[in-house]
Amino acid sequence: MSSELHTDIAIIGAGPAGIAAAIAACAQGAHVTLVDDNPRPGGQIWRGGPSQAPASASSTFRQLADSQARLLSGFRVAAIPAPGQLLLEDPHRAQVLRYGKLIIASGARERLLPFPGWTLPGVTGAGGLQALVKGGLDVRDQHIVLAGTGPLLLASAATLRAAGAQVLLIAEQAPWSQLARFGWALKAYPAKLAQAASLAWQLGGVPYHHASHVLAALGQTRLEGVQLQLGARTLTLPCDWLGVGYGLLPNTELLRALHCQISQGAAEVDALMQTSQAGIYAVGEATGIGGVDKALLEGRIAGLAATGAAAAAQALAPKRKRQLAFAALLDKHFALQPAITQLAQPDTLVCRCEDVSHASLQLFDSWREAKLQTRCGMGACQGRICGAACESLYGWQGSGDRPPLLPTRLGSLLEPTLAKANPT
Ligand SMILES: Cc1cc2nc3c(=O)[nH]c(=O)nc-3n(C[C@H](O)[C@H](O)[C@H](O)COP(=O)(O)OP(=O)(O)OC[C@H]3O[C@@H](n4cnc5c(N)ncnc54)[C@H](O)[C@@H]3O)c2cc1C
Repeated sequence: MSSELHTDIAIIGAGPAGIAAAIAACAQGAHVTLVDDNPRPGGQIWRGGPSQAPASASSTFRQLADSQARLLSGFRVAAIPAPGQLLLEDPHRAQVLRYGKLIIASGARERLLPFPGWTLPGVTGAGGLQALVKGGLDVRDQHIVLAGTGPLLLASAATLRAAGAQVLLIAEQAPWSQLARFGWALKAYPAKLAQAASLAWQLGGVPYHHASHVLAALGQTRLEGVQLQLGARTLTLPCDWLGVGYGLLPNTELLRALHCQISQGAAEVDALMQTSQAGIYAVGEATGIGGVDKALLEGRIAGLAATGAAAAAQALAPKRKRQLAFAALLDKHFALQPAITQLAQPDTLVCRCEDVSHASLQLFDSWREAKLQTRCGMGACQGRICGAACESLYGWQGSGDRPPLLPTRLGSLLEPTLAKANPT
């Protein structure tokens, strides 16, 4: 039995950006379908859904619940069968969604870079560990080290500490001079400054080291400890978990598959959040890393613009300019230091899905050549992790996306043909 859904506006991603877009578009009377691969709406920051969201998010969730938006949780976009159509898949079934306009709010993922021992069980992304804890992982009394770069390290540490973990230290790769400049620039953003102060309060007593990074994760079959470069000295520390994340990267696979222009790793959009493809909008982290306030604002602009309320959308442009300036600050002050891309040893795996080592990748000049010869990027993650690593380590551009967007069941790929044969 095949099934096909129709909607005026399809929104992919039910994080802050997608939710804000849905609320704005519904308020204009449009029929909206919000699709997200997680079991609950909320995206990365409000991963637990309405029941676990902070007070600051409750009004957003209430407005979503009061709207007429159709929420398809647990569905991911697997492929694009034809213009104006998306193939959705959940663990049990597939459906074709036909849309008039499309808003892509696909968020971001962590940049994970290889270092010796990074594939040991017990080593995760810093935000990834936070997500596991939000999903129910018990870290009470566990000893945890966090490393990498950016404010997400602090947000993750606060979540872990609140869950009963002992956060031993945070190693931030940015030098003190950059952190001080970032802190000074935050004066222009009182809400962000207050958020930073609140995190600092929650993390009182946790050592925060600048110009510091992980050298190696240690252990035989599981993580037992970590070797760190802390400024000029090295330190070996036993621990149960190590979370390492080098900032965030926009999720652009769907945008690229729809031939939307990508610039510096993010979707290119105009003042109304429209991409280079008419009727396709991009919002939130997908247009550049800037945090929850930027995501909410851009979602609102796109929801208005996609429903014809261009003047109301345009009126929000000055606010967006301010959010973009904050995004630029993040980008500038947490830029990667060269040492971070030189940690992999010859036997360190760079593509962990297909077991491809740093030494074997160094033999090639391009992503395509390496992919053809080693299967790098052809495993379950489809280059989502190693693609970014190869770009940082070897300067290779583009991980050569191919449909489907994610590993997909064969039966699901037949769905568009069935839907055509049995229209609803
Ligand atoms: C692991 C992680 C943890 C984070 N934790 C915090 C935090 O604690 N505090 C903070 O201020 N910021 C955090 N951030 C930053 C966060 O990205 C932003 O603050 C904010 O959530 C961005 O909103 P968004 O709507 O643009 O994207 P997101 O919140 O990332 O939402 C995008 C949604 O789209 C879904 N999606 C993507 N592709 C598809 C597809 N093909 N099919 C279906 N669904 C899809 C994703 O699963 C996700 O639910 C975190 C980021 C990451 C990556």
